[in-house]
Parts: sequence; structure tokens; C-alpha cells
Amino acid sequence: MTDHIPAAPLAAYTAGDPHLDDATVWAVEVHLENCAGCRARLAELAAPPLRTLLDDVQVTIDRGVRTGPEPARRRAWRRLAHRWAVWSVIPWVATVAGAVLAAFALDRQFPERPSLVLLLAPVAPLAGLAIAWSRRSDPAWEITAGTSRAGLELLLRRTVVVLATVLPPLALAGWRLGMSPALWLLPSLTFTAATLLAGGLIGVGRAAAVLGGGWLLAVALPAVLTSDLPAVVQPSSLPAWAAAALAGTLLTVLRAGDHRRVN
Ligand SMILES: [Zn+2]
Repeated sequence: MTDHIPAAPLAAYTAGDPHLDDATVWAVEVHLENCAGCRARLAELAAPPLRTLLDDVQVTIDRGVRTGPEPARRRAWRRLAHRWAVWSVIPWVATVAGAVLAAFALDRQFPERPSLVLLLAPVAPLAGLAIAWSRRSDPAWEITAGTSRAGLELLLRRTVVVLATVLPPLALAGWRLGMSPALWLLPSLTFTAATLLAGGLIGVGRAAAVLGGGWLLAVALPAVLTSDLPAVVQPSSLPAWAAAALAGTLLTVLRAGDHRRVN
């Protein structure tokens, strides 16, 4: 890493400024882990009473580690579950599953109207992505942020969890409605990649809101109101979706470093 944390975000981070966005906080912490110079600058910014307090805490923790009981080992499946997901995503999973089920039921009931499953597919993973990288929704955020695997790797890992949760109900609904899997899968992957890509610049939560809101307002709502299936969810648009999904995924991987940069 060549460029260091600028003075303003570092001061805001030290002061615990609530206006500092999640992406910046993560990027600051990932940089601090790898840069002794910026850690020294951070230590200088702390007020003397805080430094005394931190020294006391360190001495107490050291003593506790030396004299305390052995840590209890967790069961293997619990360790795996905690490594891949946070329990705070469960309400979101239930909401998405409910929405897909409702869309499926309406599509079954009114087959002549535009398919709600297809209109929902692109935006179904987005809220999960926003939750996966927000300190407000993650009760373990402080602990996660302090570990060496926080940041980009965690985001990508949770993206896999989000897709693994969202795609099966969509697949089931699409299969029962006799749709081609590509019709819902490619838009879903394209929007996921676009959210991660834009999220590197403006924050994942904001990117999910802009893209999801844009799709719902510009495509889904007019389709429901006019009962016309928009061209973008018809089979003729598949080559364009395939190209967009491929390009989006490649760009997301190439621009992965954006999630480490301090804005
Ligand atoms: Zn640095």
C-alpha cells in the first residue's frame, strides 16, 4: 500500500465521528492493520487520559490471559456458521423468501400479467449485500472489524452467503413457473456485481439503494402499473444480460482494491 490515511478521516476515526461512513471505517481499519506508520499517527491523536486508560486495559487483559481459565472450544458446525454468516441476516432471509413466495403465488394466479418473480430477481440479493457490510446491522461488527480477515474478504464471503440464500428460492419459483433459469439468474448476478463495483466507490449500502431503487422505480413499477412485460426481462434481452454479468463480475474482481481505499 503506497498512500496513507489522510489526516481528516484519521482524526474523524479517532474521535469516533458518527458521520464517517462504513466503507471509510473499514478501509481505515484494514490500512491500520498493515501500516505501523499510521498506527503511530493514530496513537498520537489519542488524548492522554485515553492513552492511560488503554495502557491499564492492556495490563489487565495481559494478566487475565495469563491467569484466566482455558478458552472453551466451540463445536465445529458452530465455528463454521459463525465464520460465514451473522445471525442478524435471518430477518432479511425470511423477508426475501416471503417476497419470492408472494411473487410466485401471484404469478401462478395471474399468468397473463408481467412476472413478479422476474421483476424481483435482480434486486432480491441487494438488501442482503447492504446488510453484509454495515456496522449498524452487524452486532459483532466491532469484533469483526478487529480481525485480520475483516473488509474485502469478508464482503466477498458474505456475498457468496447472500447468493446461496437468495438463488435457491428463485430457482424453485422459476422452475415451478417453467421459466428459463437464465432469465432470473443473469439479472440477479449483474445487479450483485454492479452493487459491489459501485459500492467500492460510494459504499455498498448506498450502491444497493441506488441500483435497487432505480430498478424498482424505472422497470418494476411501470410494468406492474401498465401490465406490459418490459423488454429487459424478455428472452430477447438474455445476450445483453449475459454480457453485463460477465463484464460486471470481471470488473468487480479487477476493482476489488476499491474496498480498501480510504475516501
Ligand atoms: Zn499508512
